[in-house]
Amino acid sequence: MARIDVNHIRHSYLPNPKKDSDFALKEVHHTFEDGGAYALLGPSGCGKTTLLNIISGLLHPSHGQLLFNGKDVTNLSTQERNIAQVFQFPVIYDTMTVYDNLAFPLRNRRVPEADVDRKVRETLDMIDLASLAKKKARGLTADQKQKISLGRGLVRSDVNAILFDEPLTVIDPHMKWVLRSQLKQLHRRFAYTMVYVTHDQTEALTFADRVVVMYDGEIVQIGTPAELFERPRHTFVGYFIGSPGMNVLPVALEGRTAKLGSQRIELPGTPKAEAGPVELGIRPEYVRLGREGMAVSVSKVEDVGRHKVVRANLEGKEIAAVIGEDDEVPAEPKVRFEPAGINIYADSWRVEMGA
Ligand code: ADP
Ligand code: MG
Repeated sequence: MARIDVNHIRHSYLPNPKKDSDFALKEVHHTFEDGGAYALLGPSGCGKTTLLNIISGLLHPSHGQLLFNGKDVTNLSTQERNIAQVFQFPVIYDTMTVYDNLAFPLRNRRVPEADVDRKVRETLDMIDLASLAKKKARGLTADQKQKISLGRGLVRSDVNAILFDEPLTVIDPHMKWVLRSQLKQLHRRFAYTMVYVTHDQTEALTFADRVVVMYDGEIVQIGTPAELFERPRHTFVGYFIGSPGMNVLPVALEGRTAKLGSQRIELPGTPKAEAGPVELGIRPEYVRLGREGMAVSVSKVEDVGRHKVVRANLEGKEIAAVIGEDDEVPAEPKVRFEPAGINIYADSWRVEMGA
């Protein structure tokens, strides 16, 4: 397994890129620690696959360097980098049996047949395909084929890293959950360096120790699920993570106070002065609905099972609040913001608050 340094990597699919927007990856500079379980999370088109393919060697970056354990591998092929990659859609040999599909990457590396057999059986159990071992892959369902693909990624234990590109897209929801838990267990057991690409926050937050959030060709935040929830570095992270996402409201600052329309909101500290439009971010979980605070008009209450989401209008802005499943909306509803949940943003980036 390896530590992977992505050094000032930029990538454009155009022959003569000039402006920033010509680059699918604007500039990525990050270290994936040896043995870490990472998720690359972001909306479609933000550059996740591009970054993954640069790590595996399917794509040569326009600028920058890639190091495995300190060694420059930028010009090495995928084989030489010794990476396992699992793609969004099955990559398997239709005419081979399920067993041989899994044995192939090992036999290719001249692993002794007894070890091949042991590893293949272990992997078949994990992906729950032992009963189909002798079947030709051709006749299987899309779901089963993708499990073979996943197995082919997991069967080798000598790889530098295992990369997954939205591997569970075609898998049904229950099996998704099972496979994700197995990947997590596998990581705990063997401490592989794993990078898992997804646009689904639940997948990212349950799989990874550290989540790398990408937006428009850049990494906007790297953190534990709790850090991303409590202290989104960029308003995009606030919206994208959480359900519903963070409320972001335009405010004017006056020392320790944020002014929202005619309301004055006491802040937990004094934000450092920064240029750009200022916004206050507060997650719906930190908006308290009751009889005290700022008057709101409630437009909708959604019952989502364990809690309710209240949609309301505060000073002409839409906000969401989360209340308990047995809580009621009072006759003259008001909201308070829990100070611990308040973040201030200037030009979309989080501003530190002093005492
Ligand atoms: P993601 O995996 O996050 O959906 P991609 O890395 O596939 O994003 O794409 C990032 C950007 O690069 C997108 O704007 C996409 O249209 C563009 N792109 C991806 N692959 C190619 C390609 N082969 N040729 C040209 N543009 C591409
Ligand atoms: Mg992709």
